Amino acid sequence: MAELASWIANASPETATSARDDFRQYLSAGLTPEQSFALSQERPKKKRGRPVSKRRVAVDALEMRLQNPKLSWTRVAIKVCSCGAPKHDSQCGQRIRIQTIELTGTLKRLGV
Ligand SMILES: [Zn+2]
Repeated sequence: MAELASWIANASPETATSARDDFRQYLSAGLTPEQSFALSQERPKKKRGRPVSKRRVAVDALEMRLQNPKLSWTRVAIKVCSCGAPKHDSQCGQRIRIQTIELTGTLKRLGV
């Protein structure tokens, strides 16, 4: 956890605050500190107006499912999908489900 503290301390004030907020949010959602830290680093870079990354969508989806495990993937997609379609359906939901599984796999590989 010492490394974690130094990472937060070295980040710019704005980033540190928001990353810390995310970290707390993940913790309160029931994740371990290690998982929360890994996810809090998934924030999009604010300086460029880049579209929301697939990874960020998966993080948001995972977060929603942690907060409400009974939520259907279609409903998660309606909230977080970034495919650009006017309406998000079960296909979006399945895609996001797979991305979330991949993210969970990545977290496991990282040993968190
Ligand atoms: Zn969609």
